[in-house]
Amino acid sequence: MEVIIYSILIFIIGICFGSFFNVVGYRLPNNMSIAFPPSHCTKCNHKLGKLELIPIFSYIFQLGKCKHCGEKISIFYPIFEFITGVLFVVCYLSFKDTYPEVLNIIYALIFTSSMIIIMISDIKYMIIPNEVLIFFSVILVILKLYISYKLENINNFIDLGYELIFILKDGLIMFIIMYLIRLIGNFLFKKDSMGGGDIKMMTYVSFILGWKLSIVVVFIASFLALPLSIINMYKKNEHVLPFGPYLAVAALILFICKIDFNFLLNLLY
Ligand SMILES: [Zn+2]
Repeated sequence: MEVIIYSILIFIIGICFGSFFNVVGYRLPNNMSIAFPPSHCTKCNHKLGKLELIPIFSYIFQLGKCKHCGEKISIFYPIFEFITGVLFVVCYLSFKDTYPEVLNIIYALIFTSSMIIIMISDIKYMIIPNEVLIFFSVILVILKLYISYKLENINNFIDLGYELIFILKDGLIMFIIMYLIRLIGNFLFKKDSMGGGDIKMMTYVSFILGWKLSIVVVFIASFLALPLSIINMYKKNEHVLPFGPYLAVAALILFICKIDFNFLLNLLY
């Protein structure tokens, strides 16, 4: 019973955060402030009232249109609010029986949030904002060290230093690997195969998942991206597809299912 109540609460919190992530994912790539001006219709600038700010439901009640000018509101917004709500619940369910429970859940929610913001801004603008990567890297690395301390893997400053170097080393290795993949891709396809944002994003992801698992993320993402890429090629569409959302989905699958690299290795043997 307790689990159901918590799940409902976390879903509600999740869709509110999803609404905020829509704002962040929309404004940051446009170099706009996150806090000002308050949410408004992008066409007529009508400031949204309390009822219009309710995630998902406001979209349904307004039938997907601005109340004032009738401008269509993108279905993209309620979809991402819903996805955030669902993923928050999934994180809670996946990490509620771990130790230290609350810290692990918060850690999972923060990482998931970062992936959602990246998806939104990469789908809309083909940009993965540096601010997002830096902000979440700092917070999650600190939280990761604190969880290690709670688990008594860290007992003094020397341990702390080692652990930090270990995390940063993973990022550096992944950065080099992604850079090499890009060079090879550029050589094979004779055009830019991967954006700088993808390289930086995977550096961030490997702080959390480690470099080995991050390579698996790139593999899964390439696989997921394949169908759309083939359709794109058939249509002779010059439009470049963002790769970030696929990386984010792949990273979330491995992270939320708590799959580690040794588990994958065992599957191979
Ligand atoms: Zn309007």
